[in-house]
Amino acid sequence: MNYTTQMNAARKGIVTKEMEAVAKKENMDIKELMGLVAQGKVVIPANKNHNSLSAEGVGKGLRTKINVNLGISKDCCNIDMELEKVKRALEMSTEAIMDLSCFGKTQEFRRKLVDMSPAMIGTVPMYDAVGFYDKELKDITAKELLAVIETHAKDGVDFMTIHSGINRETAEVFKRNPRLMNFVSRGGSLLYAWMQLNGRENPFYEYFDDILDICEKYDVTISLGDACRPGCIADSTDPSQIKELMTLGELTKRAWERNVQVMIEGPGHMALNEIEANMIFEKKLCHDAPFYVLGPIVTDVAPGYDHITSAIGGAIAATYGADFLCYVTPAEHLRLPDLEDMKEGIVATKIAAHAADIAKGIKGARTWDNEMSKARRELNWEKMFKLAMDPEKARKYRESSKPEDEHTCTMCGKMCAVRNMNKVMDGKNINILRDDD
Ligand code: SF4
Repeated sequence: MNYTTQMNAARKGIVTKEMEAVAKKENMDIKELMGLVAQGKVVIPANKNHNSLSAEGVGKGLRTKINVNLGISKDCCNIDMELEKVKRALEMSTEAIMDLSCFGKTQEFRRKLVDMSPAMIGTVPMYDAVGFYDKELKDITAKELLAVIETHAKDGVDFMTIHSGINRETAEVFKRNPRLMNFVSRGGSLLYAWMQLNGRENPFYEYFDDILDICEKYDVTISLGDACRPGCIADSTDPSQIKELMTLGELTKRAWERNVQVMIEGPGHMALNEIEANMIFEKKLCHDAPFYVLGPIVTDVAPGYDHITSAIGGAIAATYGADFLCYVTPAEHLRLPDLEDMKEGIVATKIAAHAADIAKGIKGARTWDNEMSKARRELNWEKMFKLAMDPEKARKYRESSKPEDEHTCTMCGKMCAVRNMNKVMDGKNINILRDDD
């Protein structure tokens, strides 16, 4: 192989099999794709050790991708259940799975996941460090933290959330500008605590070049984490969030100098009217690096329905430039999601992504809708189920309430506008009270 990373290959004009796969899936000219990868506007997370990967691109001009989070925690450590979730996520064609396992020996699960998953795999090494060393947070050394990154890279992880932006300077800005919810990023809060407990700089900032060495070697895409992601709408677009974003922009350039691919992670909780501006800030400050958003959740008062609050924010974010949406389930803020929560979260996020793709004018996005409209006009229920985002649910609803006339539904019965317009346009009579002629 005479290239190190997908970015390096693109800059050298080498077409990789991953680029070919992405260009085909996106119906995009390979030269255009290569240009975007070379500039960092598109990433193709593809670890050299992830052999089962079906590569996807994330970024400018491409379909909005979605990620599913799963993994074991101390309170819920059933590996079989998490593997069931993996199967469900793959059946539902999610493009990425993040293993957020944060308890015990996680390597067995991570390796199984990489082996079985054509979807790209992401992790947050910081979550794993305490269990990995079986040591209290404060006692883990900077070198040990970097060693966790290397282990995940060797295991074939395609992208890793690394919270390098919460450095001493950002921490000072945070202290001077108190927040309602402090930090809600799990990895970010752990790193901030490590820095405070040890009186040291963030090791992921201080040793960023060492992290780049690892990422270049295995072609791991860095997903620059946002420790200052707002955890409530009151904290969004505040000095800490913007300061960290500026640092992430500087780190992006350093990574690109080494041909390491970069995504930027973003909010969080945020009122609707701030989303567009935040997408512009990210693209400006981080030089058009792909944006991966964790929401945004647009109101804080709907626990149990946060798949909806985040789908609203995600659709707007993606319309204005976000490239990758992390799913949120109805269990958000309440518990680890179960299989049903997962399904609800995936569908809601897919709806947000697709709605944004229509608005962004992504090639072919409207075709799906037009096909559905055609099936609706023809009152072709089987075709509607086939085209539905969630065929199972659509069929269940239809079958739970059957109309008198097969060419209607129980909402309007024989006053069905679609049925009646079809008949009138065909020059036929309409009987509402009696059977048709
Ligand atoms: S009966 Fe009403 S709701 Fe149902 S398909 Fe016809 S127009 Fe639509």
